[in-house]
Amino acid sequence: AVEFRQVSKSFGPHQVIRNVDLRVTAGEVVAVCGPSGSGKSTLIRMINHLETLTSGEILVHTQPTSGLSGKALRELRTHIGFVFQQFNLYAHLDALDNVSLALVKVHGWKPVQARQKASELLERVGLADRAHHFPSQLSGGQQQRVAIARALVTDPKIILFDEPTSALDPEMIGEVLQVMQALAHSGITMIVVTHEMSFAREIADRVVFMDGGEILEQADPESFFTRPVHPRAQRFLQKVL
Ligand code: ATP
Ligand code: MG
Repeated sequence: AVEFRQVSKSFGPHQVIRNVDLRVTAGEVVAVCGPSGSGKSTLIRMINHLETLTSGEILVHTQPTSGLSGKALRELRTHIGFVFQQFNLYAHLDALDNVSLALVKVHGWKPVQARQKASELLERVGLADRAHHFPSQLSGGQQQRVAIARALVTDPKIILFDEPTSALDPEMIGEVLQVMQALAHSGITMIVVTHEMSFAREIADRVVFMDGGEILEQADPESFFTRPVHPRAQRFLQKVL
């Protein structure tokens, strides 16, 4: 469903992604891990063009995505949900409107229908009773679940997560991982940047390890965690496990 072909990315003189080739097939759940600054966020942000590529190309459902703008870019983003570390909810909208907004503003749905769909999604993430709470009235875990519902509102085939639990207090991580686990079993394609090794180990189909803008190793979780091959992956795991 997503294919990187020799993708590189520089910020000014600094190359932060180096000739990455990566294929993620439909329905696959991929965990991306690696040290801080290794390029994980940049890698996934390029998929929906939150960052541009310097060279190479990224195909989504076999279609090249370079040079998209306007309507075509909105269309691409409709098929790819994105969940940020810091939730990025609209502070002045309640949970229901946060989730339904894009359907009304971007897709021209009637507000009544958009809210109906949004309330189904809030129910799916266990927040049916919080629909009229504003972000400031929700815990971090609840806010992140609203953000996941929002990312799902356009029925994306692919959902990208950038450290979705890193801003949460420890006791709230579980509720978000639970929602993600259910999602993983729903057949959606997931690419998850995470330091949550339990997620990588138990839920992901594949672990991708990055360092210095390169993919140094990718393997099924069992192999990656029990017999990492690359010395840098071994060192990384010694630190985080
Ligand atoms: P972390 O685990 O800390 O989130 P990461 O693996 O997500 O790190 P990236 O955020 O992708 O790493 O950053 C990769 C490199 O690119 C870093 O050296 C970072 O400083 C640099 N970088 C990222 N965004 C920009 C930007 N907008 N302008 C300049 N440099 C950037
Ligand atoms: Mg990052």
